[in-house]
Amino acid sequence: MKRTLIVGNWKMNLDTSQASLLVHRLEERIKIHQDIEVVLAPSLLTLQPLSLQIDRRKFRLAAQNAYLKDEGAFTGEVSFTMLRDLVHYVIVGHSERRLYFHEDLDMVRDKVAAAIRNEITPILCVGETQVERRAGETKQVLHDQIMSALSNLTDQEVSEVVIAYEPVWAISTFSGILAKPDEVKQALVFIRKQVEDLYGSRAAKKIRVLYGGSVDDQIVGGYLEIEGCDGVLVGGASLNYHKFSGIVEKAYAVKHAPEKESDGEDS
Ligand code: PEP
Repeated sequence: MKRTLIVGNWKMNLDTSQASLLVHRLEERIKIHQDIEVVLAPSLLTLQPLSLQIDRRKFRLAAQNAYLKDEGAFTGEVSFTMLRDLVHYVIVGHSERRLYFHEDLDMVRDKVAAAIRNEITPILCVGETQVERRAGETKQVLHDQIMSALSNLTDQEVSEVVIAYEPVWAISTFSGILAKPDEVKQALVFIRKQVEDLYGSRAAKKIRVLYGGSVDDQIVGGYLEIEGCDGVLVGGASLNYHKFSGIVEKAYAVKHAPEKESDGEDS
């Protein structure tokens, strides 16, 4: 059975002592669950101290970004190579990176390849803007983002990638409109179909697909109950220990609900 993945993206919030306090609070509340994987993505600066603090049975770490080259004259950047002993995951292609830092399809593709090269699992964010959705371009945008990001990978490598569907219009810091579970379901099915068409059914079955966009402890169940939703990427609510631990609890409850059928696939 796949483990449900709950990722907290703290963005550019919390200094070292605030981050340490949040981890302490989360550790008090979150239990060890074999079938739930809880991933924290703090700022780059706090990854090192948190790597010493966290209970590794409860948490894994992710970076929010890294540079696509492994080393060299790239002032101000940190490479995937430098992060490989610190993190299990790196978020790649987040909409804030695409919009504010002009990361284009080629950069995202090269970052996904750099993550895989350095044995870090990329969490590839894809999703359409409100304008693109209104113009009926959602499928085309998702197709282009997925095709291009995975284009340098083998079938086996693709199956290890995590894809997070994050419609830009649903992210709390943009417009924060709540996506309906039905809308999310359609996108998740489409994303998995793209992977199947390009890399075969084995990769499509194995790849983990998450949802992200204004998720909190009150509404997370509606998304996690969608068939084929392997977890959530949480921004704002991950900074609140009540909400984030509530999300993990809810994920456990959904996973263990009597009517939930397992797909029998190992992650
Ligand atoms: C995000 O930034 O990836 C995100 C999903 O944010 P929020 O949960 O705050 O909408």
